[in-house]
Formats: sequence, C-alpha cells, structure tokens
Amino acid sequence: MLAVAGYQLGKRFCFLDPVPESPAGMLATQIVAPYDDVGALDELARTADVVTYEFENVPASAARWLETRVAVFPPPAALEAAQRRIEEKQWFEKLGIATARYRAASTPAELRASLEQVGMPAVLKTDSGGYDGKGQIVVRESQDPNELWERIGVADVIVEEFVPFDRELSIIGVRGTENNTIFYPLIENVHANGILRTSVAPAPHVGPRLQAQAEEIARALLQALDYVGVLAVELFERSGRLLANEMAPRVHNSGHFSIDGSVCSQFENHVRAISGLPLGSTAPIGRATMFNLISELPEIHALLAIPGVRLHLYDKRPRPGRKLGHATLVDADDKSLERVRELVAGVTG
Ligand code: AMP
Repeated sequence: MLAVAGYQLGKRFCFLDPVPESPAGMLATQIVAPYDDVGALDELARTADVVTYEFENVPASAARWLETRVAVFPPPAALEAAQRRIEEKQWFEKLGIATARYRAASTPAELRASLEQVGMPAVLKTDSGGYDGKGQIVVRESQDPNELWERIGVADVIVEEFVPFDRELSIIGVRGTENNTIFYPLIENVHANGILRTSVAPAPHVGPRLQAQAEEIARALLQALDYVGVLAVELFERSGRLLANEMAPRVHNSGHFSIDGSVCSQFENHVRAISGLPLGSTAPIGRATMFNLISELPEIHALLAIPGVRLHLYDKRPRPGRKLGHATLVDADDKSLERVRELVAGVTG
C-alpha cells in the first residue's frame, strides 16, 4: 500500500521480505532474505535513498545497522520503544501520558506480586513479540501464577489492569522532516480476540477536547522520538479520558480507511514525510467504515455488488486470524453497511 501510494509520487521501491513471492514483491523488486541478513541490508543501503519499515517486529538491530549507511525513518529508537511493552510504558510515563496501571515481572514470584498489586481482572502480556492479541492472557480470577507463567512461556512479562473502556480509539499523526506535525481525526476501533475488526473515521461523538487530548499524546511522542513518518497510538476512552495502550511506529491498520476516506492517505503521507515532501491534507472526504477481511475471504462478487464498497485484497493465503484484505465504505447508508457486515461475519474467524 506504501508502494501503490508512492508510485503516484514517482517513487521506486525495493522490498526486503523473507517470504518468497510476498504480496509486496508483486509490485517491485524483492530481496528475499532474513531481516538481519547483512548482505541483504547492504544491498538495500546501496539501492535506496531512504529506508522505512511497515512491520514492527523487524529486528531493531537491522534498522540500527542500516542507519549508519542510509537514512532510516521512522527512527530506530521508535522501533525499539514499540517492541518492548515495558520500555514503551516508560516512554509514556516520562512524557506524562496516562496508561493502564501496570507492573513488570520476570519471575513467577514477581508475577504473583504484580497480579496482587494490579488486581483482577488483569491482562498478562509478553514484553516483546506480541501483536494482534498474541502473547496475551486475560486473568479473570485468582489463577495460579505458576500455571500462568508456564502458559505465557517467556521471561519478561507485563501485568496490566484490565481497562473497562467505553470504546477503543486511535490517533494517527504524521511528522515531516521539518518538525511539521499533522493528525487524522480520531478513529473508533472494534477488536475481537485482540484483532482489529472494524474502524470508523472520523469516530462519532468526538468533541474538540477529546481530539486535542489525543493529538497532545501523539505530538509528545513524535517530538520526543524526533520522529519522521506515520505514528499510530492506540487508546482506551473511559469517561471522556484517554489512556494510551500502545504505539505503532508505522502505517497502521486503523488508518487503512484513509485510502478511500481522506484527502491524502496515511500511506501517501508516510512516503511524503520520509521523502522530505510537504505533507498532504488529513481532512476526511466523509465518514468511512473499514472492515478487515480476516481468516477467509467473503464472496467477492457479492461484496463488490454492494454500492460504495472499495475493496483492497493483499494477495495473502488464508490462515486463521490472518488479515487478507479490507473493504471501506464512505458515507454509506445503513443497509449497505449491514450487508457488508453480514457477508464479513459469515466467514471471518
Ligand atoms: P494490544 O496487543 O495491547 O493492542 O491488545 C489488543 C487488544 O486487547 C486491545 O486492542 C484491547 O481490545 C485488548 N486489551 C489490551 N490490553 C487491555 C487492557 N489493559 N484492558 C482491556 N483490554 C485490553
């Protein structure tokens, strides 16, 4: 999606992806190698004017290596912060950004103490390697910490207070090379089993105060990290107050609506930012609803027959829990939205 947006701006792309014939490889040259293969990184550094990443589990060491040879945006420090939940929470705290109460633990005894301090229900998460709800356990009543420790199976964990949020929101900010910062309107997100299902943008019932609160959170991070590119911050809203859940130093799934719903998409704005170009308008064209197509694709003919559906398929093999594409409608009527919802719910795992 970055390449599709970038081609319009006359940019050329080269992808590093360990999976042969990856979806990105259909669009431009693909180097097939592990993310930390020095030969492959060297080829990237020699080929590219600027390197970016759109998956937060690429090794930060690879980004650090590249940084010594070529411009890398967003800065590797942002990648490092986002890869470790404990470090990420420390960034939030340092910047005065409110989060759920949490404790870190690295032994079964510390886990027991952390669960007692945070209280039930709690969410147990691995410090690193988790996304889309992977590496997470909701602890609802007094469970045996030793058994939980075995189940989570890693040495560093974080115990978070379970936030009884009113809803989940995200804010997408973009910072250019000249400390210019812009934001998309808040996005309302619905997750199931830790995976994003739908996004609505602009989120309904958002006053200027809530939007300003979200922008303040994202701006603090963009500036502290000396960031360039698109940054997403996932938020919980509770009684009009925002808590930061996590940040993603990349174009974000909750921003996919922007391809069809905004004057300039998050993908184009990311390419503009990392190329030192002026940023594009984040103004909405209308109210967009984005449905993720997960695990299996719905009947494509039926989906495209619904007025207003904009379909984006990723050319990925179906697998339980895998995001295979998304469909967006802008200013759609309730009937069309309901028909999409039914089709998607019929197959989504
Ligand atoms: P994460 O991987 O941290 O983004 O978590 C995935 C999803 O799990 C979130 O979008 C929430 O729906 C849910 N979740 C994560 N942490 C918490 C929490 N502390 N309280 C309530 N729900 C949570």
